[in-house]
Amino acid sequence: MDSFSEDRPVPIIDPGLCDGCGLCVLACPSHALALEHGKAVVARPNACQYDGYCEMICPVQAISRPFLIITIPQE
Ligand code: SF4
Repeated sequence: MDSFSEDRPVPIIDPGLCDGCGLCVLACPSHALALEHGKAVVARPNACQYDGYCEMICPVQAISRPFLIITIPQE
């Protein structure tokens, strides 16, 4: 389960929790998600805008979004 596509983060979907309801697929405005074999997947990671609608709508909390910690060098 990749959490990053190239240099862009994408949501992590836990297939053990996903029940395949499809709500996240319907909620994603950029159509980045799809159902495959009854589970949600990030089928088009480069389309993902990382807006979090999928994470918010999932009724079983199967989706989470990783984040990067960026450190800014001190001058
Ligand atoms: S909303 Fe959650 S349970 Fe439903 S298909 Fe998406 S990840 Fe799976």
